[in-house]
Formats: sequence, structure tokens, C-alpha cells
Amino acid sequence: MLVIVSAQFPATRVGKTLATTCLCVAHKVRSSSMPSALTPDEIAILHDHAIEAAQNSYSPYSHFRVGAAILLHPDDRQSGKIVAGTNVENASYRLTSCAEQAAIAAAVTLYGPAIRIQAVAVVNLNGSACMPCGACRQTILEFASPETPIFYPSATGDTISTTLADLLPAAFSLIHK
Ligand SMILES: [Zn+2]
Repeated sequence: MLVIVSAQFPATRVGKTLATTCLCVAHKVRSSSMPSALTPDEIAILHDHAIEAAQNSYSPYSHFRVGAAILLHPDDRQSGKIVAGTNVENASYRLTSCAEQAAIAAAVTLYGPAIRIQAVAVVNLNGSACMPCGACRQTILEFASPETPIFYPSATGDTISTTLADLLPAAFSLIHK
């Protein structure tokens, strides 16, 4: 199920502290059909972390500046932290790392192999549609349940909310039932 959460978040909010007076559309929308248990404020904060990460994008070849932020389920090592990453390109194009994979690698580095992902936000600074690629969907699944909400920009700039299961309906698994 794809749900439009909000119009595109304005880049002018980058680096600013979220205030209760924030006027972004996310704070005006509360949809019961949203496949996420996150509040609009939580989604906006996750989005802001992704935007900040995208500022550091190393993308001299495509100039496609992507950021991803993952919200971790709390565990004994952290209390629901957000970890972000950005894309890192390489002259040998196939060695490029996606923002989602960078965020996950950083989260494992910081908090260990038991991390579980509660939600993922993907953004870009190019005003383009930007859903996780196939490889990233499979990478996210390694640390997330199929119901995990994924937020990404559509071609019209709206933020779309869907689930990992919708993006990766026939995931690869080593577990055979
Ligand atoms: Zn990817």
C-alpha cells in the first residue's frame, strides 16, 4: 500500500531544530491509513536526518545527492536512535554505495549486529523520485521486518509511505519453510 504522507519537505528546514510550530505538511496530516506507527513529528525528524546526510553526498559522477535515515528499535545498547548515511560514488561505478547501505553499516558499527530497523526515510537533494533500489531493499530486510515503513519522495515531490513488504514482495531468504 502506498500512502502519500505529505508534500515535499522544504530544504530550508535542514539544520534547524524541530519546533512545535513547524508548518510542514507532515504535521498537518494524520492518516489512519498510514502504514506506519510513527507520528508525523517522528517522520519529519527522520526525514531531516536524511536531508542532513545528503548534504555530505560524495556524488561527483551522477551529482545525485541521496540521504537515508534509519530509526532503530530500542534495545539494550541504544534507545531508538536514528542513524543516517549518504551515497558514496566511485570512479568504478559498480563500487558505489547507496545511502541506505551506508546508514545500515554505520548503525551496525555503532550499535552492533543485533540492531533492528523500525523505519527508513530516503531523500535526495535533486527533487527526484527516489525509492530504495533492489539491493537496498534486500539489505534493509536483513535488519527489518516486512512491515517496516519506508518513506521516499515521489516524482511529484510528495513523500510516499509504504512498507518493505510492498517494495520487496519476493525477498531472498536462506530460511526455507
Ligand atoms: Zn540502493
